[in-house]
Order: sequence, then C-alpha cells, then structure tokens
Amino acid sequence: MFQPQQYNLDFNRDLRVSLSDDASETTDDCVHGPTSGVDREGASLTKPVDLPRMERAVKELLAAVGEDPEREGLLETPSRVARMYAELFSGLRLEPGRHLKKVFAEEYDELVLVRDITFNSMCEHHLLPFIGVAHVGYLPRGKVVGLSKLARVVEEVSKRPQVQERMTHQIADLLQSELDPKGAVVVIEASHSCMTIRGIRKPGSLTITSAVRGLFKTNTSSRAEVMAFIHGPRPRQA
Ligand SMILES: [Zn+2]
Repeated sequence: MFQPQQYNLDFNRDLRVSLSDDASETTDDCVHGPTSGVDREGASLTKPVDLPRMERAVKELLAAVGEDPEREGLLETPSRVARMYAELFSGLRLEPGRHLKKVFAEEYDELVLVRDITFNSMCEHHLLPFIGVAHVGYLPRGKVVGLSKLARVVEEVSKRPQVQERMTHQIADLLQSELDPKGAVVVIEASHSCMTIRGIRKPGSLTITSAVRGLFKTNTSSRAEVMAFIHGPRPRQA
C-alpha cells in the first residue's frame, strides 16, 4: 500500500510543476516540465480500441526480444496484454469532466479537500506504471460536488498515457472550468517505475507535482494553509 506519510517530504524543494514553465529540458526520464502535447482534458476518442491489433503488436514484441510467442506459456499472453492495455487506457474514451456536472447549491465556502486518492497511471514515455496518491481540493463558490466525484475524475484522468505534470494540471483545470470555484489545488505524489526499475534506478524516490488555481495561486496564506492540510498528519489507520 502506498503510504506517503512514510516519506520525509520537503514540499517546497520538490515543487515541480505549479508555476514553472521549464519545458526545454530533454531527458530520458519522466521528470520534466509541463508538456504542451495533446490536451485530452475533455476529449474522448470515439474509435474503439483495436484488440486484435494490440495482440499482433504484443506477439511481435515477444518475437523481437527473441522469445517464441508460440510456446505454451506465452500463447495467451498477447490477448491478455491487449485486454490489460484496454483497461489501463480506458480513460481515453471517457470525459472526466462529466462527473463535475452535477452540483449542489451550498452556502459552504470553506475548503473542501479529499486527500490520498490512490491511482495508477502509465507514463507515456516508457509505458511503465507510476503509482501514487492525489490530493484534490477547492474553495466552492456557491456550489459543491459529491466527494466521490473528485476521486472519479482522478481515476479517469489517470487511465491514459500520461505524464504526472499534465495529469496534475488537467485535474485542476477541470475543477476550475466545471465548478468555477474561488480556488483549486491538486497535488500528486507518485513513484515512477521508469525511475525505479530501469535507467537511473532510484527506488523510494517520489515525484511531487502541484497545480494551484484562483485564490490558491494569488494568496500565499491560503496556499500555505491548504498545503499544510495536504501534508498534515494522517489519522491512525485501524
Ligand atoms: Zn517514464
């Protein structure tokens, strides 16, 4: 189980995404500035996923690494992997913003924050998983959304070829555009397989990204307050 409280976080030092615009660095790793690639926040593909094509590709991959795709242990692998990818990338055909359409009029105008929303996504550079938690909060402006909807948004945004930086600001932008809150904040903490099992091999490393909108961007004390909540002590789990 992913437990971010086990890490000693220096949030300010690790802030990667929020206000920086440094996309110039090229690296083999998945840690870099925001990308300006295809923005899939609201977009969904209409073309169905092509399972037979994926099966052929997996078979080809196995053959290319020198394996025998016809040996017994691998016979079912291409179809299994194809179905797995269809699941892992199911968010490409969903519009996460729809979860934020049903709102409730509410006087409450203080912070709403859901912490530790677990997710797993696939880094689009290596097609390896990155796994972690998202913290999603907003300051309502007369309307609130069901708490589980925030988790649904995280879930669907994560089920695409992703980079953590883009995922972070996609969620923040969805909150901002659908709820028109006074402020929105998203912090994501994740461990990237492409940094732990290959390349530089740094198990235990944690990448933190944040995106702040509205009041959290302009008002430093509001931002400090919400960050204190996000990184504050967790209640003891039973
Ligand atoms: Zn990667």
